[in-house]
Amino acid sequence: MNQSKIVVIGSCNTDMVIKSERLPAPGETIIGGVFLMNPGGKGANQAVAAARMGGNVTFITKTGNDHFGKQSIELYQAEKINTDYIRSDPEHPSGIALITVDAKGENCIVVASGANATLSPADIDNAKDEIESAGIVLMQLEIPMETVEYAAQIAHQKGVKVILNPAPAQPLSDQLLKSVHIIIPNMTEAEMLSGVKVTDWASAKEAADVISKRGVKVVVLTLGALGALVKEGDQIHQIDAIPVTAVDTTAAGDTFCGTLCVGLSEGLSEGLPEELTVGLSEGFSNGLPIVDAVKLACSASAISVTRMGAQASIPYRKDIQF
Ligand code: ADP
Repeated sequence: MNQSKIVVIGSCNTDMVIKSERLPAPGETIIGGVFLMNPGGKGANQAVAAARMGGNVTFITKTGNDHFGKQSIELYQAEKINTDYIRSDPEHPSGIALITVDAKGENCIVVASGANATLSPADIDNAKDEIESAGIVLMQLEIPMETVEYAAQIAHQKGVKVILNPAPAQPLSDQLLKSVHIIIPNMTEAEMLSGVKVTDWASAKEAADVISKRGVKVVVLTLGALGALVKEGDQIHQIDAIPVTAVDTTAAGDTFCGTLCVGLSEGLSEGLPEELTVGLSEGFSNGLPIVDAVKLACSASAISVTRMGAQASIPYRKDIQF
């Protein structure tokens, strides 16, 4: 199968998770239940999701020079992710996330970015060849915005498809949005980007309209247990979620994004002369069509919400019926 490379640029954390009957109120201490320590971080989760779905994945991130960082890199290697461009920062510790999950699967997360906050445009320059030879660059917002903007610009200039999961929610420049081919916000992020409160399919469509007018070609808005809405040009598609009983929604969006990229990357031509790739690069026409890639992503993320943890909950391709 002809498969293009997916370069994931983003954060890597170690998640410390406590499962609890309910989330604590401000100032409150509650006794929780099970404690789990898992590798996490949106960048790492999405790289692992793409690798488990069979993608050809390079991960660009920054760890601390510590036990957590070394352990994370070993795990990525075990997932067959290319770790050649991961650097360790001598001064800052590896990123840590403190997560509480309640009985309904709702979560509450605080992240200490550590070395993730030092992933810089210079690090992107060090990986320039790798980025420019990719089919897709996938990013999130747990690393500095100037790094995201720089990497998006480099990739976009070379015709590499930039896919952005704008999480955690923050405002984005129109300049960045013009370099992004597909944006994948959840309901909160879509509200931040559009000013429209997203609660159902109708408001999701309204938000997607506003976001696409800012210059992004394709908007894929994830709607939790409802599913996902795709807006590509004038076309709108509603893809229902797979009905499951959620136990922990951590990494649902990450599983979705990593899987979507694999769907789109399969069959994308690599190394073809430029004149032959012009048509392909517009619509990923050799990979799965966007709607089918979104269906694949819904299948994978539905499985992830039935399992505890971040990377621990991400399924393999063989687990998916598609
Ligand atoms: P995030 O995790 O970023 O907040 P969402 O909650 O929108 O993102 O979830 C991402 C995707 O995961 C959804 O589009 C959907 O396909 C799937 N998903 C999330 N929650 C559920 C659920 N309760 N049941 C089935 N699928 C779900």
